[in-house]
Amino acid sequence: MGNIEDRTRFNTEVKPNWCPGCGNYGIQAALKKALLDMDLNPHQVVLSSGIGCSGKIPHWINIYGLHSLHGRTLPVAAGIKLANSNMVVIAEGGDGDGYSEGMNHFIHASRRNINLTYIVHNNGVFSLTTGQSSSTGKKGFISNTTPFGAIEQPFHPVALAIAAGCSFAARGYSGDTNQLSELIATAIKHQGFAFIDVLQVCVTYNPKKNYEWYKERLYKIDYSNHDTLDRNKSLTLAFSDNEDKLATGIFYQSKSTPYENSLPQIKKVPLKNHNIENIDISNLFKELI
Ligand code: SF4
Repeated sequence: MGNIEDRTRFNTEVKPNWCPGCGNYGIQAALKKALLDMDLNPHQVVLSSGIGCSGKIPHWINIYGLHSLHGRTLPVAAGIKLANSNMVVIAEGGDGDGYSEGMNHFIHASRRNINLTYIVHNNGVFSLTTGQSSSTGKKGFISNTTPFGAIEQPFHPVALAIAAGCSFAARGYSGDTNQLSELIATAIKHQGFAFIDVLQVCVTYNPKKNYEWYKERLYKIDYSNHDTLDRNKSLTLAFSDNEDKLATGIFYQSKSTPYENSLPQIKKVPLKNHNIENIDISNLFKELI
């Protein structure tokens, strides 16, 4: 057990090597703040990541961590949650990781509703591989793979999540750690799959979308004027985004039953606590031989 008063308990001795000014620092700080504000201890939390600059985050936060494969952070996180449903499970990755290679996992995780939190560091570019346009790169974006400007439309991750059946869909910003930490804490408390698209500044490979750029365009959702239980209005809000106006906050949240709560085998006792000593699987092997 850790000391709940120790506000440094999620720190590591090794410091991140992200570029100075990278938005990943803000996301990391927001995650730590959310865990501290929830009085969690390192042994209660596990983080799975994909590949990319964001994928390095488990190395630099003092919780259980697994740096997995490109686009595969969600199936890894799902496996962890189903094996030990007592853990707080977080999956992280970038837009290149989760909205390209891992897109199919994202759609199915949204409808399957396993109780975990998925945080996407969305900077509109494959940054670890030195700057190729991703599926959230804006039209006209000049990169190594789009030297004359991207000709494809970017897609809307929040709208896709809601359409796929996600029970919690939100957007944060790497430059607003307070709002983001609140979103992360709410997502962790949510019963079901909770998705947060985080607009992340990449100062090196997407320098036009810097802190000033976001400051001029971001606004917070006005909950006196938006019902997060209304799926259609949440979808409309998600689709109302454009390059000049981007909402942050919770778009949609519904009451839901997590996938694992419908599995009688693990509903009451986590899989890891099952006594498997007396299970005879010899007949199963005979069938396979
Ligand atoms: Fe951050 Fe971009 Fe540098 Fe990667 S390349 S560490 S995303 S600023």
